[in-house]
Amino acid sequence: MPTTANVEEVHVNLSEHCETHPRELIKYFCPTHQALLCSHCVALDQHMCKLEAIVSVAISFKDSSAYKDIQTHIRQLANDACQTTLAVEKKAMDVDNSERKDKTEVLDFQSTIAECLKEKCHHLTGQITTASQEMKIILTHLQERSKDTEAEASGLKADLEDKENNSVLLFIYAYKSKERATAIPDKLRHIEEELNKIPTYKLKLDVALQSLSCIGSYRKSANKQDSDEMWSDKQKGTSVL
Ligand SMILES: [Zn+2]
Ligand SMILES: [Zn+2]
Repeated sequence: MPTTANVEEVHVNLSEHCETHPRELIKYFCPTHQALLCSHCVALDQHMCKLEAIVSVAISFKDSSAYKDIQTHIRQLANDACQTTLAVEKKAMDVDNSERKDKTEVLDFQSTIAECLKEKCHHLTGQITTASQEMKIILTHLQERSKDTEAEASGLKADLEDKENNSVLLFIYAYKSKERATAIPDKLRHIEEELNKIPTYKLKLDVALQSLSCIGSYRKSANKQDSDEMWSDKQKGTSVL
């Protein structure tokens, strides 16, 4: 819009149509209602305020304080909109970073627990192996002694049965066998005593760990009020970012 134009020239440049009456050009301004009006607006709505013709007031408008106010207001809004876009972009970046960081932390946590669990299970199975091996060594000895004693008793029994057809030999061998068998009960008793000394192990796993229900949580942190304050400051036209 030219700054040093006469009324005629400005009149020629009238080209904006009324939003309510699209065929009519905007020609008037109502300072009271800050409204742009066409001839129809004035006539049909019986607009009773004191109006100004746009062709007159437009000439010195560019240097007026009214324009400076509007300009400052629009510039502030543009600045605010830019700050808001930056805030949205920053939040999007924060969400990305936080997702990556938190997932890594969970996976690290999982690895640490898995490693710890593996080590503890290894230690436990090691204990089972050691205890079982110790008992197996003792049992192997007991098994040998038990088999030997059993063979000894079976031998004596077979000898006697052999001699049942010869009464003299049977008589002699019966007493010889009785003599030879005197050590057997002690041997059996010792074996049984040692057998009873072998402990019984019982495995007890931590049930609480097995029914693990919660390993952590992912919750909103309490900063909603902060963001609410930020937005209301924004609406007042103050940048707080
Ligand atoms: Zn109109
Ligand atoms: Zn008015």
